[in-house]
Amino acid sequence: MFAAVIFYSIMFVYKKKENITKAIKSIREDGLTIGLVPTMGALHEGHLQLVIKALQDNDKAVVSVFVNPTQFDNSEDLEKYPRTLENDVDLLKTVNADDIIVYAPTVEDIYEGKAVSESFDFDGLEFEMEGKFRHGHFDGVGTIVKRFFEIVKPHKAYFGEKDFQQLQIIRKLVEKYELPVEVIGCKIHRETNGLAMSSRNTRLTPEHLNVAPFIYKTLKSAKVKFGTKSANKIAEWVENQFKKNNLLKLEYFLVADASTLKPVKRKSKNKKYRAFIAAYAGEVRLIDNIALN
Ligand code: AMP
Repeated sequence: MFAAVIFYSIMFVYKKKENITKAIKSIREDGLTIGLVPTMGALHEGHLQLVIKALQDNDKAVVSVFVNPTQFDNSEDLEKYPRTLENDVDLLKTVNADDIIVYAPTVEDIYEGKAVSESFDFDGLEFEMEGKFRHGHFDGVGTIVKRFFEIVKPHKAYFGEKDFQQLQIIRKLVEKYELPVEVIGCKIHRETNGLAMSSRNTRLTPEHLNVAPFIYKTLKSAKVKFGTKSANKIAEWVENQFKKNNLLKLEYFLVADASTLKPVKRKSKNKKYRAFIAAYAGEVRLIDNIALN
């Protein structure tokens, strides 16, 4: 009988800035390219798609796992945010153990005792949608992403269209600060029932999990209506649909210009538009969006 040989693949998980800095220096000295995938952990298939893309385009993928306190305006949401680093590492190993580096710093290491945000001017992108409902959110996002860009020095960075406003804001950050990184937007990864994958889905009750695909279903109907109806009429229709649903509470629905994120007044043929929804399923806040044209 042969003893089974078990290979345990290891993966580098850096917690300290000085250690990841050394690793990055060595990768860059070897002439290799780095793709960064910033995440807050509790990884799912949607995150993995970004990691896979980062590995297709680059020699190494750095996946940051950090629940950034400065982008939360709700302390309960921050406290309840799932933290599952061991599982995250195991999941990443199923993609590729050799070329993925995990950067999971502590709040102390990142903020050095002062967890406060820088203030950013994102040319108004920060005042729409999430900016209205999550106070200071995009200053927190800008602060942490800029810091990760400085530490990880990626050639490319990958963000999901799931957080479309965030993606546009990061593009603006890179443009305004002339940061030497290419921002790549990645399509929204969904469950087969249409629900956009999200770390927050793990906090849904079975009842809310069952009703949550209604969000995407409504967005798809809004897209069909966009061919013939005004943005106001569509908004009215969506609001009525949600009123009839006892389990989901609409926070906002918006049809917006995909580049400025301003609400659309009159449609123009050569512009791109998207529809956005934020809704509560019990205590869990879900967001989703769809390209309309
Ligand atoms: P998070 O951990 O929620 O901060 O997400 C980290 C990155 O993964 C962000 O760029 C998200 O937009 C992206 N992401 C999260 N969920 C999805 C999804 N279902 N499809 C595509 N990208 C996603």
